[in-house]
Amino acid sequence: MLLDGYEAPPLHHATVLIEDDRIVKVGPMASTPVPPGYSVIDTSGRTMMPGMIELHGHLILLGHGNYGQWFPWIAKQGPTTLATVMEIAARQLLNAGVTSAVDLGAPLAESLDVRDRIAKGAIPGPRMSMSGPWITRQGGGMTDQFGGIAVTSTEQAAREVEKLAAAGVDVIKAHSGLTRDDYKAIADTAHKYNIRVHAHVYAEDDVRNALEMGIDVLTHAGSAGTAPPYSPKLITDIVNAGRPVVITAAHRSWVYPDTAEFPERLQDPQLRKDFTPAIYAEIQRSLESWRSLGYFQRTDREMIFRERGVKQFTESGTVLGMGTDSGTPMNFHSEALWREAKVHVDMGMPPIKVITALTRAGAAILGKTRDLGTIEAGKLADIIVVNGNPLYDITALSRVETVVKGGKVMKQ
Ligand SMILES: [Zn+2]
Ligand SMILES: [Zn+2]
Repeated sequence: MLLDGYEAPPLHHATVLIEDDRIVKVGPMASTPVPPGYSVIDTSGRTMMPGMIELHGHLILLGHGNYGQWFPWIAKQGPTTLATVMEIAARQLLNAGVTSAVDLGAPLAESLDVRDRIAKGAIPGPRMSMSGPWITRQGGGMTDQFGGIAVTSTEQAAREVEKLAAAGVDVIKAHSGLTRDDYKAIADTAHKYNIRVHAHVYAEDDVRNALEMGIDVLTHAGSAGTAPPYSPKLITDIVNAGRPVVITAAHRSWVYPDTAEFPERLQDPQLRKDFTPAIYAEIQRSLESWRSLGYFQRTDREMIFRERGVKQFTESGTVLGMGTDSGTPMNFHSEALWREAKVHVDMGMPPIKVITALTRAGAAILGKTRDLGTIEAGKLADIIVVNGNPLYDITALSRVETVVKGGKVMKQ
């Protein structure tokens, strides 16, 4: 079965022809013969869909419970460990069916290096769009470990964007704590370089400032940190502006209760395979008392608001992309995106819309609709094969059996 990324009925018994890195033809098997000389990837009894697009991940995190211990631990291991961590994260994402991803916060040099090594084919991973360090005001957000930049003036905010653009970042992350003028300066400067800006915003005033000052993507808005829900006027303005929102709903107020129900997920044998023995041991140690982690201190309150937070957007016609804050405590790259998809379906979003948000809408938010997001002739051949029918059971997305990226089989 083929889901092509549009909100259209599936194409049953489908064939997709790929030459080099592009899709050349899509059609029913009966009328789309495979020409001689092609190698065949058998997808019988399975569902094909576009590779998924993760709009908010963190390659420098692997689900460890405490940033204040994770980063010093990495530093103590030696100078190459951070790169190893990012490679592991990239491989986990790719194996989970993520063929494109946005990283929103990591040191600059390491960010560009891992992106470029993936692009060259030296290591496996999704097509990465890297922000490098985020921009905030003093006290506006953790800066040291994520390489964040704390500016003291609007002029400096613009200058930092200039520097990041010159260094070659793909996106800019504007962290909360910035002023209205800061948002405008950051957006205007980034747009000169054709770079889009993702704002990390929770509070109503921050969301409104980012919206009105031209920030391209509102990320975290509607996730559980937002309590109480936004004013109807703000939602209306976001919808009318057509401004995309990436909620990152699952990462606290769903991951925590899901783990309470099934703590065994923390010892998924796949994690042992994904990590080095030392990293696995350190992450296990950090999660021994996961109920008392600082990261989940407000989860009780967040669980009261989580449903209203998500439904404000899913029921209003907001343009939604899917992002997860993957890598945050207990939020492993190997499963963050299907968990996020499940939350949206559980909150009433039709599965076909969620799949579109994971693919075609994600490509539009990245500004890459020419190449990504759908399975049709001319697009890059980023295709995954899942076991089951995700329209019936969205957790079929947790069973990604085959990953093709740019026409190359990356997992089978
Ligand atoms: Zn963020
Ligand atoms: Zn984040």
